Amino acid sequence: MSTKDKVITCKAAVAWEPGTALTIEDVEVDPPQAHEVRIKMLYSGVCHTDWAYLYEAGPNSLERPYPVVLGHEGAGEVESVGAEVTNVSPGDKVIPLFLPQCGECKRCYSPKTNQCRKNWETTQMGVMADGTSRLCKKGQQVYQFMGVCTLSQYTVVADTSLAKIRSDAPLDRVCLLGCGVATGYGAALNTAQVEKGSTCAVFGLGAVGLAAVMGCRAAGASRIIAVDINPNKFTKALELGATECINPQDHKPQSIQEVLKEMTQGGVDYALECVGNATVMSDALESTIDAWGVCVVVGWTDSEPIRVDVDQLLMGRTLKGTYFGGWKGVSSVPALVDQYMKKELKLDEFITHRLSLNEVNTALQLLNTGESIRSVISLW
Ligand code: NAD
Ligand code: ZN
Ligand code: ZN
Repeated sequence: MSTKDKVITCKAAVAWEPGTALTIEDVEVDPPQAHEVRIKMLYSGVCHTDWAYLYEAGPNSLERPYPVVLGHEGAGEVESVGAEVTNVSPGDKVIPLFLPQCGECKRCYSPKTNQCRKNWETTQMGVMADGTSRLCKKGQQVYQFMGVCTLSQYTVVADTSLAKIRSDAPLDRVCLLGCGVATGYGAALNTAQVEKGSTCAVFGLGAVGLAAVMGCRAAGASRIIAVDINPNKFTKALELGATECINPQDHKPQSIQEVLKEMTQGGVDYALECVGNATVMSDALESTIDAWGVCVVVGWTDSEPIRVDVDQLLMGRTLKGTYFGGWKGVSSVPALVDQYMKKELKLDEFITHRLSLNEVNTALQLLNTGESIRSVISLW
């Protein structure tokens, strides 16, 4: 029986308030409106940003609406489309995008950025373009994290916020291209623009940092120094291309930036911060060579600002950030899927756990304790 134009009742992992575990609820998902697409979600990864939204709000944090369905790293199939949708049809395999690509604005035309601002304010507040969410629980609006909310069996996204991918792509793996792996890989290739033969340091070896290691390797870096306070991450980092691994705690009281400068005669060419810690961001900048070092902030935090001494920049360093690894999602994610299918890009190595939707809190805990790289949640 077709569900088109009908409200669908399905399971979703709902966060009712900051700092509390998610609960699995029956939610009602409205049909898509004009320029919207309803997706049957099949798989979703759990990213540190989901954890941070729920558990790391500080006094200066931006407003975070609740109740909310988290998840922004998923894959599924189009269930139905609203009026005026021309880019996808029911049955198409898709990856929802937390950063849209409208294809029509100044930013979409510019090769310098992926920062399309279509529906930006509304998606940041967890609602669709008309200011309301398509999810509710007994009449109460449930917000859609980053405008996508992949930890629900059905979700609705704008037609500019999804990538149509090839029909033979395994959704239980390519879901990781919805955030973590695409972000780290692109941070090295697009944002840092790592050069062949260069020396790189990657701070933080979760999925994002390991994907950055993979990106440095793909760019032909000759030294890739992987840095983490959890040495259990080192085996995988070496497997994905790191040439050396360092635990900053083994070198105390020496700072990690001093250690890296000594190892590289003055500093690395590129440093990528994939932790989400403002102190580590300063350390990463200071670990680059003063004359031309590039530091890319990939990790996210809004709990404190980065401290940057003027002297650290004055000689020629560059400090920059990346969002979704600089990829323009609609056009780039299908190409990344192709790379995976051609075995040019790894995804399977990032998946350490496969869990059910009922085990979503376990997935968050495993991420936070560093026991997992990525847990992939089966929505059904
Ligand atoms: P994760 O929790 O899996 O990995 C973080 C890693 O950092 C862990 O291995 C941890 O041991 C390590 N770490 C913690 N403190 C450290 C320190 N002082 N020095 C070195 N390593 C340290 O997280 P993830 O899912 O890989 O995400 C990483 C960061 O990237 C998060 O801040 C996340 O919010 C952010 N993120 C940003 C974007 C973007 O678009 N820019 C996209 C996805 C994720
Ligand atoms: Zn993410
Ligand atoms: Zn645009």
